[in-house]
Amino acid sequence: MSKSNTNAFAYINKDEFTRFSSSGGAFLGIVSAFFALHKNEKCSVYGSQFNEDLSVSHGRALTFKEAVRFCGSKYVRSDCGKMYTEVQRDLNNGFYVLFSGTPCQVAALRSCLASKEVPDDRLLTVDIVCHGTPKAEFWLDYKHYLEKRENSKLKTYSFRYKPGGWKGYPVYAKFENGKSYVNTFGISRYIALFRKDLLMNNGCFNCQFPGKYQSDITIADFWGIELCMPDVDTKHGVSLMVFHNDNNEKLKEQLRHSSKLMRETKDETYIKYNHNLSKKTKKPENYDDFWRDYKDKGLEYVLKVYGDDNLKGRVKFSINHVIRKTGMLSLAKKIMHKA
Ligand SMILES: Cc1cc2nc3c(=O)[nH]c(=O)nc-3n(C[C@H](O)[C@H](O)[C@H](O)COP(=O)(O)OP(=O)(O)OC[C@H]3O[C@@H](n4cnc5c(N)ncnc54)[C@H](O)[C@@H]3O)c2cc1C
Repeated sequence: MSKSNTNAFAYINKDEFTRFSSSGGAFLGIVSAFFALHKNEKCSVYGSQFNEDLSVSHGRALTFKEAVRFCGSKYVRSDCGKMYTEVQRDLNNGFYVLFSGTPCQVAALRSCLASKEVPDDRLLTVDIVCHGTPKAEFWLDYKHYLEKRENSKLKTYSFRYKPGGWKGYPVYAKFENGKSYVNTFGISRYIALFRKDLLMNNGCFNCQFPGKYQSDITIADFWGIELCMPDVDTKHGVSLMVFHNDNNEKLKEQLRHSSKLMRETKDETYIKYNHNLSKKTKKPENYDDFWRDYKDKGLEYVLKVYGDDNLKGRVKFSINHVIRKTGMLSLAKKIMHKA
């Protein structure tokens, strides 16, 4: 990749639906460009969605509005096995298909199509930079725990509630009894464990894909945007888009229509701010202890011991909360970078 053409862009979508996106709405921008490019053709879009019971799996959408449900990072392994056959059927029936998922899901789809000799010239693949996906059974157990505490069914949960800020992983939960919570200590223990890398599937620590993406486009949060492009207004989230081949010029043109910002990076400095773009997540030393204790002693035990569900954890959470709210963290980062 030459320095004059990095094929990597900072992207901010101007569509109102990007309030459901994790960062700059890159995924929705690509969906809208995809439908615009093939407006007189049959099109389908695949992505990860919450089901009625808040389990997570891949689904199929036929319109832009239907695809909005794929927005938002679900920090859970998305069950997508059945979708490979659906994609195959769509391609054989002359559909243009946009498939999105983790790098391993895109690679699995590609290998499945190749083994069946399904032509893929109408297929566009988008993968996310992936830190690792947590085990689905732990998420469902945590969901039941929240429901027991609240004595009400959990109706909505967001792992990245953007109105609470796109950087600090604020969470949101709404229950059937009408009560909703934004980033309280109680509803955020799952994300606390996720951020300690304890919830991942073991296989994620041997991920083969960082730096070897098999998709057409990789999307990510643009970590380090303040340092790479200091003039950009980052308040509502910024995504990174990396194009892996040169035959998407028309798509890029369409993307510019939906963007508040689409600016090529001047070099590849962005890579150093986004760990999982080029490196896999390291297995924590206490990972095996965590899963043994979860199996033997249960969810509430591991929440207390590993998820800081204790007085010290609560105090730390409150201090962090204040630091983020007052913007002291960004200021400290800027000062440290200049020093
Ligand atoms: C488990 C996970 C780990 C991630 N780790 C990183 C990271 O380390 N660094 C980084 O920069 N970005 C990471 N991301 C991606 C990031 O959060 C954004 O999704 C991405 O920046 C695109 O921005 P957006 O505004 O378009 O987001 P969104 O609109 O939120 O992106 C939606 C896209 O994410 C896909 N998606 C959501 N949840 C899942 C899931 N469980 N499995 C498969 N696909 C899913 C949807 O299918 C859709 O394509 C991760 C996302 C997930 C789900």
